[in-house]
Amino acid sequence: MKPVVVLGATGSIGRQTLEVAGRLGLPVAAIAARRGSDDLHRLAADHPDARIAVAAPTGEERERLAVLGERISFGPEAVAEAAALPGSVVVNGIVGSAGLEASVAALRAGNRLALANKESLVAGGPVVEAARRAGGGELIPVDSEHSALFQCLTGEDPDRVRRLILSASGGPFRGRTAADLAAVTVAEALDHPTWSMGRRITVDSATMMNKAFEVIEAHLLFGIPYDRIDVVVHPQSVVHSLVEFVDGSIKAQLGEPDMRVPIQYALTYPGRAAGTVPPFDFRDRTLTFEEPDHEAFPALGLGYRAGTAGGSAPAVLNAADEVAVQAFLDGRIGFSSIPVVVERTLDRLPPQEVATVAEVLTADRAARAVAAGQIGCSC
Ligand code: MG
Repeated sequence: MKPVVVLGATGSIGRQTLEVAGRLGLPVAAIAARRGSDDLHRLAADHPDARIAVAAPTGEERERLAVLGERISFGPEAVAEAAALPGSVVVNGIVGSAGLEASVAALRAGNRLALANKESLVAGGPVVEAARRAGGGELIPVDSEHSALFQCLTGEDPDRVRRLILSASGGPFRGRTAADLAAVTVAEALDHPTWSMGRRITVDSATMMNKAFEVIEAHLLFGIPYDRIDVVVHPQSVVHSLVEFVDGSIKAQLGEPDMRVPIQYALTYPGRAAGTVPPFDFRDRTLTFEEPDHEAFPALGLGYRAGTAGGSAPAVLNAADEVAVQAFLDGRIGFSSIPVVVERTLDRLPPQEVATVAEVLTADRAARAVAAGQIGCSC
């Protein structure tokens, strides 16, 4: 089996990937993280044969990591080099648009990219697609909904798809009105009912901006037009997504919410291996489905708007949201202001064509500056 490269190794996806790789007996070729934390030192000790890349270490961290000798390298280019290690499966669990360069490097090198960093695909869709075509790399989604769609589409003719139906848990504020949401706190937004994830994605789930990104991600991964991608709120997070075909048949992928399942599938595809998740028990389970509330969760509509506009618009959506979410976490803006900041940033920056990583990053920076201006800070 191919060696695994884990990017964002100290994060939630990274840790679960290392656990799955360990259980499957896959060698770990490289580990990358943003910072040289104690967690990274532990991972380096646990994987003595892995190359270690640290994207943005402090001077002190650099000195402390020097004990790793030739195994260690620094800077974003070191992370891209790890992603390009020939013949590997690269799991990209980097948070934010910083993951784009590594995604492109992995695909250009012809590697399998198991993508958990949806921002790199959302922000740089055309660039990621060009890298995939140029290098012949394989792109397998790790996001639970897209893994579900991917599994339902395997063996099917894409021309026979009527629509993709993305499941949304609805987040912690499902059922609340737009007026209720004005007063929610950071602690409430971080308390997700079914999935345990990083801070930004948890807030993005609460605003449903995460689902907005996932609509764009689905379009880019599977080439289905936006008017044939629907979102259904399914609070139990058991049906991970569905595909409806032209004959009226619907396929769905089900299971307990556990990211180790899509991570493992991305590593073993097209095969499957035994997992640690207990068998799903259907008895006494009620599964419900409802329409999303677009008024309370305007972020969802912004995803369709940016996706349909194309070019730099999804990059602007992502960057503006990152700034707005950070401002919310820092207590500088209220929860309801997050989509407002994003919408105003989209209004101010008409979509431009993006063909290179540099152009994506230019759009990203412009969006950050405009979003920060809306908030009234220099973040
Ligand atoms: Mg998801």
